[in-house]
Amino acid sequence: MTAQILDGKALAEQLRTTFKTRVAALMARNTCPGLAVILAGEDPASQVYVRNKVNACEAADVFSQKIIFPADVPQNALLAKIAELNADAAIHGILVQLPLPRHIHEASVLAAIAPEKDVDGFHAENLGALAQGVPRFIPCTPYGVMKMLETHRVDLPGKEIVIIGRSNIVGKPMALLLIHAGATVTVCHSRTRDLAAHTRRADILIAAAGKPRFISADMVKPGAIIIDVGVNRLPDGKLCGDVDFEAARETASLITPVPGGVGPMTIAMLLANTIEAAERKAEAAAAK
Ligand code: NAD
Repeated sequence: MTAQILDGKALAEQLRTTFKTRVAALMARNTCPGLAVILAGEDPASQVYVRNKVNACEAADVFSQKIIFPADVPQNALLAKIAELNADAAIHGILVQLPLPRHIHEASVLAAIAPEKDVDGFHAENLGALAQGVPRFIPCTPYGVMKMLETHRVDLPGKEIVIIGRSNIVGKPMALLLIHAGATVTVCHSRTRDLAAHTRRADILIAAAGKPRFISADMVKPGAIIIDVGVNRLPDGKLCGDVDFEAARETASLITPVPGGVGPMTIAMLLANTIEAAERKAEAAAAK
């Protein structure tokens, strides 16, 4: 079996058309959705991610503001900027690019973002709402994965789903969404014993460990769906996922490529959340 490719880039482009329609409707109500992206430090990968997010805003007619701090920015300066953006009526979404420099306490910074502008969905209040099954903002990467599965009409109730990775931004919210969708979810991580025994049971395997091509074809159940969240840079500068794509493609039924899979969908869902935030604010203003 050669798996069908789950093309995240094409799906993200399709979604952009719907975003433009929503933005035009907002503009007609004198609201231009606005996203502020904060970057602290000079991490090259983070710089690329921020540039991609800002470019995606431009392509969807969403206003964006990029705020760059040096790596030694004091935490108070970051918090003061967030307070300013919380009060700025032109900004509907605030995103702090992670990881932050080591001297900054990440949880305090995320907690400072107004929950109604937390378009990354990392604020404890928003993660709590997600855990309760009443999400306000779904973290963009798991949201993008759900959208891909939905678009390909993947039936989730009762499915065995194995997620590799337990981070706050991918693994944990991904598990919550899939549990609520009726799947049986196993979360594996760096302390898991016999990873392959778990992955071989998976109807759907979601890899988010950040280990280049460490999922080999013999770890995949024949006919499984593979979602490769990992983004790893090889010594030759090329990007690859956590899955040995070429080999696993011969075993799986559906697989996401890297690049061109989950990455573009993550950015698309950031726009979706930002537009949603602006729509909610416009609705609230109209109801007054
Ligand atoms: P993280 O480093 O916070 O978490 C990695 C997780 O993988 C940890 O829970 C760890 O326990 C687990 N892990 C590590 N080695 C393992 C092993 N050998 N076996 C089993 N589990 C193992 O990373 P993260 O922020 O969740 O990101 C994971 C990957 O996804 C990275 O490659 C990152 O670049 C990528 N990512 C991609 C997108 C996207 O839009 N495509 C978005 C976010 C993250």
